Amino acid sequence: MKTKEYSNGEVTILWKPEKCIHAGICVKTLPNVYNPKERPWIKPENATSGELIDQVANCPSGALSIKEPLDSIKIEREDNGKKGRFAVYCNDEFAGEMTFTWAGNTQFIIDHTGIEPKFAGKGLGKKLVMKSVEYARENNVKIIPLCPFAKMIFDKSQDFQDVRS
Ligand code: SF4
Repeated sequence: MKTKEYSNGEVTILWKPEKCIHAGICVKTLPNVYNPKERPWIKPENATSGELIDQVANCPSGALSIKEPLDSIKIEREDNGKKGRFAVYCNDEFAGEMTFTWAGNTQFIIDHTGIEPKFAGKGLGKKLVMKSVEYARENNVKIIPLCPFAKMIFDKSQDFQDVRS
């Protein structure tokens, strides 16, 4: 059976039916949340997030778990007037960067895009390119995508041609 999800808006409980040994610890600990006679049998809105997390930790079979929140992604722009970078952070940890060099006042060259191996496969490189496009549009400047990765993204998307130099 498929893993089921139950959320109180802050915390999402995952339940794997095939792992549940029906020990009933959840029902005894939080009867307002876990009631096998009702549907849905888990009502996370009837407890605080802290109570839910504590209880899930006591499930003896591992049938219950807490869904990890989505990564929070933040991109910051640094610029010393000659060159700079867009740096991406994943849950406040440095995850990669896209460096650029100004070519005059009205255009900049994307030189290089690099994502830390640990954060590969999350689409962060593309997010960096998109952030640079957003910046270029807001500031009425153009982009020369020299970096092969950025060039590939530009070549693929018609949407970015307005900022391409
Ligand atoms: S505590 Fe875990 S194993 Fe026990 S009934 Fe609840 S979900 Fe199933």
